[in-house]
Amino acid sequence: MSESTGLAAYRRLISELRELALFASSASILGWDQETGMPPRGGQLRADQLSALGAYVHQRYTRAEVGDWLALCEADEALLADPRFAANVREVRREYDREVLLPESLVREIASTSALALQAWRGARESSDFAAFAPWLEKVIDLARQKADCIRADRGLSRYDVLMDQYEPGARAADLDGVFRDLRLQLTPLIAAIAEAAPAGEPVVQRGTIPTASQEVLNREVVARMGFDFEAGRLDVSTHPFCEGIGPGDTRLTTRYREDDFTESLSSAMHEAGHGLYEQGLPKEEHFGEPLSEATSLGIHESQSRLWENLVGRSRAFWRWATPLAAERFGAALEGIGAETLYRTVNRVRPNLIRVDSDEATYNLHIMLRFDLERALLEGDLAVADLPGVWNERIRADLGLEVPNDRLGCLQDVHWGMGAIGYFPTYTLGNLYAAQLWGAIRREIPDLEEEMARGEFGRLLNWLRTHVHHFGRQLTAAELCERATGEPLSAAPFVAYLRAKFGELYGL
Ligand code: ZN
Repeated sequence: MSESTGLAAYRRLISELRELALFASSASILGWDQETGMPPRGGQLRADQLSALGAYVHQRYTRAEVGDWLALCEADEALLADPRFAANVREVRREYDREVLLPESLVREIASTSALALQAWRGARESSDFAAFAPWLEKVIDLARQKADCIRADRGLSRYDVLMDQYEPGARAADLDGVFRDLRLQLTPLIAAIAEAAPAGEPVVQRGTIPTASQEVLNREVVARMGFDFEAGRLDVSTHPFCEGIGPGDTRLTTRYREDDFTESLSSAMHEAGHGLYEQGLPKEEHFGEPLSEATSLGIHESQSRLWENLVGRSRAFWRWATPLAAERFGAALEGIGAETLYRTVNRVRPNLIRVDSDEATYNLHIMLRFDLERALLEGDLAVADLPGVWNERIRADLGLEVPNDRLGCLQDVHWGMGAIGYFPTYTLGNLYAAQLWGAIRREIPDLEEEMARGEFGRLLNWLRTHVHHFGRQLTAAELCERATGEPLSAAPFVAYLRAKFGELYGL
């Protein structure tokens, strides 16, 4: 016998996964197109397409034969001695055990409802009409409950844990409760002290408007300089910026533009490009379709976007390089506005009704609110109809702001429309991972600031490639963090970073 039964089964499993990834990546293109190019009346067809593809992949993935191959792999010790094979087997097992518990009819209904709810949400948000979205949200919550109940049987997990596990393997709501409580205790006095010290008046970001076309030129320059490969990616426009990693050689980013503030689209472009660099750094050519070619968790994914958006894009060093570059592109609009002014402007701390426009200090309060409310919706402690009222109360209590309409309130985010319940906590985890990784990076690249001030990001990207990107799911998020930084995840580096930065900026 030339190869073990385990290895033969492994090869069949991998070849099946690769085939299925062709269908899944086709669904990704359809999802990207839904946000960037699809005409409004194409919605029903798109929902049917995504539902058919989702059901087909689910059906093939959950065949008994796939389970047999997995079992043969798991019985072959020699095979599992290779950490990459072992990681693929472990991760496929995790996924397979979840998927076999889901009936195909539910998979179909979730895919189709998510596509339609997303479209309903878009219209409802546009006209700030919560009543138009409410029945869809009820459906989304009901399907999320059904899904969680199918999977959680005998596992002793809460519904929320089961849902969160698809985005952040191993994360548990009870642990996050503790992390969030602790973070809130430290952030609240910091935010209050900043508010006390903040100078009155609007900071200057630019004079007059800057056409979208000129902003796009700058965004492309910065994103390319970060190391994003435009031969293997695109940058387009969408209402809600996102990054879609389609497959080897194809990673798509979007941003949005405001002519009265160029820093907003630049910062979204840098955020999405951070996701895009992770996607481009995953070993997709060699391992397409295998867990080894996929992001280990959304928290780690978000750490990459927040690192480039905030730790790089809101640093003094970055603006020393980017200000003259922007001034050259934008001419009179930036006349007399220096690097220090722009640095201060992009770091102003001011509670904002909108999560994605929030500063680094108040951002996580938005996540805590969503974490609490979506858990309450899922467990039936909060009725959908009561959501806007409870939302508005929390914004008043946490941020001291009045919510004038639901567009600026509970209708602002795309996630619930997409059926993504349990996703929000990964944003805060991303902020914490980013700050902790940054500490390790600064220890290992002492000249980092000088490099950034010259617009050189090669060594930084190389560090991320080596310590984060190339592993795919070979390491779990927790293992990756320990290996890259020497410590388990903690909120301390993030809090220390905020205190140092805003302490200096606001003279605290
Ligand atoms: Zn992101």
